[in-house]
Parts: sequence; structure tokens; C-alpha cells
Amino acid sequence: MTNLTLTMGDITEQKADAVVNAANSSLLGGGGVDGAIHRRGGPGILEECKALRAADYAAGLPAGQAVATTAGRLPARWVIHTVGPVWSDTEDRSSTLASCYSESLRVADELGARTVAFPAISTGVYRWPLADAARIALSTVRAARTENVTEARFVLFGQEAHDVFAETLRALEQGAD
Ligand code: ADP
Repeated sequence: MTNLTLTMGDITEQKADAVVNAANSSLLGGGGVDGAIHRRGGPGILEECKALRAADYAAGLPAGQAVATTAGRLPARWVIHTVGPVWSDTEDRSSTLASCYSESLRVADELGARTVAFPAISTGVYRWPLADAARIALSTVRAARTENVTEARFVLFGQEAHDVFAETLRALEQGAD
């Protein structure tokens, strides 16, 4: 079973086998987590992303899917890029957000990663309400079965996000008792 941990900090500083990027479909960089990963990780990550676009992902990476590249100069071995859904008031895209976590874990497991660091996917530029995103993220990772991954670490950017994730995790654990 995967051990689920929460920490506050910058995902680009995490020592983990794999760090998950809240990418966009283009795979060519953006703001938030994506911008920070490419800035800190150096040009090697973008080069591999461009190669992916030239090969299997000519139309971009669809929301809910995940793909790995090198982590460049980050203190990790791999970056797993996944594309979160943009929040919608009219359409329920929860299964796509859940898929970002389960697919990232599946890719991590295939790579042989033992530790994986996740950001709060879709809660920045894509505007997903934090508490709902936390519920989907934590319940999906808790339910996932992995062969190699022993730690899934949520890296929350600031006190508010950390508190919401901690409270949501507590509620899920109580509900499971
Ligand atoms: P999305 O486009 O999926 O919404 P963002 O990168 O805009 O992705 O934001 C996702 C979450 O990551 C937000 O909660 C944001 O505050 C947080 N975040 C931004 N930069 C970092 C970072 N360097 N490390 C960890 N989390 C970050």
C-alpha cells in the first residue's frame, strides 16, 4: 500500500524519484508548477517534451493522461507530466481529475519509482476549488494499488492549501474507520 504524506513547500525542491507536473496539453511549458519545473529543471525537460510532441503526442497530451520525461537538474529522476481539467461550473470533470492521479501513479509504478511528489493539480490557473480537489486527489491516491510506489507525497504551496489537504485527509480517514 502507498503511504500518503503531506508537506508544504515547492515541488521543484522535493527529493523524490518522480515529481508530477501540472502541465498543459501543449507540454511546452506554462505558469505555476509547470513554469517552475522547467525553470529549475533546465532545458533537458523541454527537449524531451518537444520530442514527445513530435512522436506520440502530435495533438498534445489529453487531460487526465500522464507521460514521463527526465527531471533534468531537479533532485528527482523523472518528471511525470499530467494535464488537469479546467474547472467547470456546468460540467462534472471529477473523473478526469482523478485520472491525473491514477495515471501518474501508474506511470510512476511502471518506471519503478518508489517515491512520487504531487502538486494540487488544477487548483491554480485551472481554478478547481481546493477542498473538492483535495477530496478527489486524496481519495484517488488512497484507493490506488501500486507495485513499486511506497510513498505518494502531496506538496502544498502555502499554509491554506496544506490545511485544506490535512483536514480532508483526516475526514477521509475517519470515514474509513
Ligand atoms: P493548474 O494549471 O493545474 O491549475 P497550477 O500550476 O496553476 O496548475 O497550480 C496548481 C497548484 O500548484 C496551485 O495550488 C498552486 O498554488 C500550486 N503551485 C504553484 N507553484 C508551485 C510550486 N512551485 N510547488 C508546488 N505547488 C505549486
